[in-house]
Amino acid sequence: MMDPRDVIATKRDGKSLGEAELDEFVQGYARGDIPDYQASAFLMAAFVNGLDARETLTLTRAMVASGRTLPLDGVSRPKVDKHSTGGVADGVTLIFAPLAASLGLAVAKLSGRGLGHTGGTLDKLEAIPGLRTDLSVEAFERQVEAVGCAVAAPTADIVPADGALYALRDATATVPSIPLIAASVMSKKLAVGSDLILLDVKAGSGAFMKTGEDAEDLARSCVRLAGDWGRPCRAAVTDMSQPLGEAVGNALDIAEAVEVLSGRHSGRLRDAAVMFAGEALSRLGGVAMGQGRGRAAAALDDGSALEVFRRMVQAQGGDGRVVDDPWGVLPAAPVIRPIVSNREGFLIMVDAEAIGRASAALGAGRMRKGDPVDPAVGIVFRPKIGDRVEAGQEIGSVHARDDDAVRACTDAVLSSIEIGDEPVQPVPLVHAWVGD
Ligand code: URA
Repeated sequence: MMDPRDVIATKRDGKSLGEAELDEFVQGYARGDIPDYQASAFLMAAFVNGLDARETLTLTRAMVASGRTLPLDGVSRPKVDKHSTGGVADGVTLIFAPLAASLGLAVAKLSGRGLGHTGGTLDKLEAIPGLRTDLSVEAFERQVEAVGCAVAAPTADIVPADGALYALRDATATVPSIPLIAASVMSKKLAVGSDLILLDVKAGSGAFMKTGEDAEDLARSCVRLAGDWGRPCRAAVTDMSQPLGEAVGNALDIAEAVEVLSGRHSGRLRDAAVMFAGEALSRLGGVAMGQGRGRAAAALDDGSALEVFRRMVQAQGGDGRVVDDPWGVLPAAPVIRPIVSNREGFLIMVDAEAIGRASAALGAGRMRKGDPVDPAVGIVFRPKIGDRVEAGQEIGSVHARDDDAVRACTDAVLSSIEIGDEPVQPVPLVHAWVGD
């Protein structure tokens, strides 16, 4: 019988844990036999001293084994999963899932909720009146087979150890650790039977990983875990030094996603969705990479991805008219005010985390797990790094409950950006791809 104190002491002293003892510790915690205070001490020791590749794999295996898996045997199309490590204005999944489905692939996506400055796909989707994300495993699989995609909350019995450990990490300042994030992300991906896992590992001011190097390390760690498990996986390290899209909220993100799905909106959000769908199609559909992207772009422009989105929304109980007239259906904030630039020049820096926090402070996100979110409020922020802005130019808008909230949010947004006199280069969307 393993003594939890020995596991903690081994990691405290910077040594490697054996497979059996680490597995027993994690399973014991998931069963409730090991208390939070011992798991917290272990997490801090792992945060400070790291976990090697073998320990990270053992931790991931133990987390997957803490619950049920979802083989998705009833889904006949090639299955692709896509996951973002979390960012600001990152609505790619809302577009990618119906887009990939419209190209003949299946996307069975278990998504998360927003926490801190990052948004969550489930919160965004639930802004659509009637839409449910608490699907049973059977309903989820049936919908993926019938529609081609479903986006739902993981049931409590899928990787329960991750839910419990993530809450502890949130409370003990141990979230931004590469092996702990890799095990957390990949346990949820490996518990679901997909033929390809695509990861969007964010780097920059709005991401957990603030530098491209750390994000690449995380991407490599995740891809290696998938490889050790025998599952194909590729990771793109993408820019989060500024909000990806323009909308930072919930209903606002749905409206923006509908615009992209209608082929009416260009920019980085569309580019990211097209890139991942093209990658999926070339890996699973046997088409050349350039052709995959071309077909994905065409499915946005000809309305086929939008129609799949409508069917997905309706299958999950939501009002399908959201695709025809988003603001006829979505909850709108009572006070909407423009954000006006107070100087001219070039946008040289954006603190994307501060913008995410400003949106969360309006009520669009949550500071603690389990807090409610307000679907109607949020921020629209349009310029990208390198863009020229004029003094007095409307660069976005605040959607709030009252004028006090508007004022605080506008101040927060304007102090989170830097406008300079010298032109700067736009930041590329993709820093690197990891995995063969
Ligand atoms: N997303 C996850 O699912 N887990 C982490 O640890 C961080 C981001």
